[in-house]
Amino acid sequence: MVKALVTGGAGFIGSHLCDHLVSLGHEVVVLDDLSTGSPANLEHLPSVRFVHGSILDRALVDECVRGAGMVFHLAAAVGVHTILAEPLKSLRVNLHGTENVVEAAARHGVRYAVASSSEIYGKNDADGLHEDSDRILGSALKSRWSYAAAKGIDELVAVETSRASGVPCVVLRLFNIVGARQTGRYGMVLPRFVAQALAGEPITVHGDGSQRRCFGSVHDAVPAMTRLLDTSEAYGRAVNIGSREEISIEGLAHRVREITGSASEIRFVPYHEAYDPGFEDMRRRIPDLSLAARLIGYRPRYRLDDIIKTLIDHQLRRRARPA
Ligand code: UDP
Repeated sequence: MVKALVTGGAGFIGSHLCDHLVSLGHEVVVLDDLSTGSPANLEHLPSVRFVHGSILDRALVDECVRGAGMVFHLAAAVGVHTILAEPLKSLRVNLHGTENVVEAAARHGVRYAVASSSEIYGKNDADGLHEDSDRILGSALKSRWSYAAAKGIDELVAVETSRASGVPCVVLRLFNIVGARQTGRYGMVLPRFVAQALAGEPITVHGDGSQRRCFGSVHDAVPAMTRLLDTSEAYGRAVNIGSREEISIEGLAHRVREITGSASEIRFVPYHEAYDPGFEDMRRRIPDLSLAARLIGYRPRYRLDDIIKTLIDHQLRRRARPA
């Protein structure tokens, strides 16, 4: 039994990671400021110790890391709505917060995993983004790119700190991970579409809907995250995690409508109405998963239709809960 610290553990991916760590028999501590996470995501896990606080609080971070055997750093300002609404606060959390966590882990000799994102590849739409693929980011002063820029720096901070200290780390590059407990409130497309379809409201496809994504199940991602932190060959590297089942956003709207049996209209919303002027979308984002396959035998098991069904079940159960 190892004590694991999960920053951002009350969030969507973080809480599933807590489920998995508890099932492996570990003691789990969560540090979360509840900015986008929710205590409801952890209420079925009474053994998890919850610490309400920010990763910007250095002393608190130090206290949480001290005595831990591993750290999973997932806390971040996430979602396109959050980043565009609060660009400076998002940058602070994503840069200084990560620095605090990584430095504390190095100081106390605790191996650590840092969550990153397929966003860091920016506008590179190659068929199969490899861990060494080029990053193509838009203008430096557009807040739209600040998340990608900050996460890129986070990766360097994580890996360089590991090199300098000798404390192992791995960077987890997550590609559109979806599943139950994910909320559409901050922009993520799949829970939004499911909520819209269930409410009989228009399903809002941004742009012409031809942009493509690969959605991966959180149930594939989470075991990969823990296994990578147990794999010495992964240390000092970034590893893609996700799925290669590709779909256009218009196609996704149709799939969600079909599976929910909804009569919702599919409504195309021009980008300038959905986001601030100047917003640029990624056309396509497909991971090359061969590194994860080689390191830990990673092979996604869940298909998109099954993931959509899980999300529908989750949203229906949540609606049925007494307030
Ligand atoms: N999107 C959409 N309707 C929505 C929310 C998002 O069409 O209500 C689009 C968004 O413009 C993007 C894609 O869905 O093209 C995926 O968006 P998300 O924010 O989930 O992930 P990311 O852009 O980071 O891949």
